[in-house]
Amino acid sequence: MSWRSELRAALRPIRRLASKVDGVMHQYMELYDSPCDSGCYECCHQMVTATLAEGVAIVDQLNELNPRATDFAKNAVPLFEKASAQFTSMAVDPKVTMESWFANRTRCVFLTEENRCLVYANRPITCRSYMVLEGSDCRTENAGAMVPTIDNRELIDASKSVGAEFSSRFRVPTGYAPLPAVMVWALTLYLYRRSGLLRKLKGTEFEDDVKAKEFWVRKLKLWEA
Ligand code: SF4
Ligand code: SF4
Repeated sequence: MSWRSELRAALRPIRRLASKVDGVMHQYMELYDSPCDSGCYECCHQMVTATLAEGVAIVDQLNELNPRATDFAKNAVPLFEKASAQFTSMAVDPKVTMESWFANRTRCVFLTEENRCLVYANRPITCRSYMVLEGSDCRTENAGAMVPTIDNRELIDASKSVGAEFSSRFRVPTGYAPLPAVMVWALTLYLYRRSGLLRKLKGTEFEDDVKAKEFWVRKLKLWEA
């Protein structure tokens, strides 16, 4: 089986779960009369957590959008460099917390200048299952503050368990962590598997980061500890 087919097969369960979660959230929206809307983006200033499987699904989408290695290096790699800088800041500065992340209006690396999610089809379960309750409109007077949300713990637990199966299939750490950390780890895994792409990135500044795979594994473990 080629690496691509193996990857697609391994990503199927998390993609299936994502579509189930969308169905559940649709029902919740009606039940709770939630103000959440597809054009909203306040919640994209939060520290989102994700599984490695979800990170790899995003990398795969970015690779589809930029099939030529040179385009990937030009368009997608800067996103990972941003993610890497965000993760480094949270790893070294104890003052960086979920609350400060939101209060400082830290934008998700995938939030475009037009305030759209670049990876909407593959956004993590955390993003899909985040929904504020009726009367808690975070787009207006509550902007910048944490507001009451539905209890999505069961959905997150489901994503963790599907994510753990993915990680065990590739014999890598489970990797449930903030999205910036997961993205860098996911790209590392992806590029290592797609050695052709890795070869074509030779000589770019990013190559050293990718080579420092152990560095990312250590950082991720640090977070999980
Ligand atoms: S959480 Fe807030 S910003 Fe996000 S979709 Fe709901 S209302 Fe919009
Ligand atoms: S992945 Fe997309 S939906 Fe999730 S926080 Fe980032 S921009 Fe928002």
